[in-house]
Amino acid sequence: MKLPAAAAIALSMGLSTASAMEPAPIQVTRIGTQPSSAGAEQNFTGAVRVDSRFQAAAPARVGGGIVTFEPGARTAWHTHPLGQTLIVTAGVGRVQKWGDAVVQEIRPGDVVWIPPGAKHWHGASPTVGMSHVAISEALDGKSVEWMEKVSKEQYGQ
Ligand code: MN
Repeated sequence: MKLPAAAAIALSMGLSTASAMEPAPIQVTRIGTQPSSAGAEQNFTGAVRVDSRFQAAAPARVGGGIVTFEPGARTAWHTHPLGQTLIVTAGVGRVQKWGDAVVQEIRPGDVVWIPPGAKHWHGASPTVGMSHVAISEALDGKSVEWMEKVSKEQYGQ
C-alpha cells in the first residue's frame, strides 16, 4: 500500500496521523473499577444496588447502569424527561404507570419503554429479586424526577 507522503513521514517519525477530527478512542470501563453503589434511601424502598454506571459525555446524553432489586425492593414513583428503556436481565420484576389498574410482571429478556414524562415505578417481585439494565437520556443534564414512594398497597402482594 502506498501512503500519502505526509502520512508516510509521520509514521516514519513515530507520530500519529490522527487529526483533530479523529474520533475519540473506544472506552472500556472494566468491572471492578467503580464500586457498587446503593440506591438513595429517599428514592427507593428496600435494598437496591447499582453497578456498571455510565454517563456519556456531551454531545451524547445517554446514561444508566445495571440496577438490582432485592425481593420487595422498588423505586419511588418518578418520571424521565426523555423516557427510559429497561432490559430485564435476571429474576422477576414489576412495572406500573400511574393510573394503570394492573402492575405488569417483567422477566429476563423483556424490554420496557417508559415514555417521556410518564409517572411510574419499577422493582422486584415480592419473593424473587430482579436486575435490569436502565438506559435514559438527560434533558438539560437531568434524567429523572423523583416523587413519593410506592406504598405497600400500590406495590401489591
Ligand atoms: Mn424509571
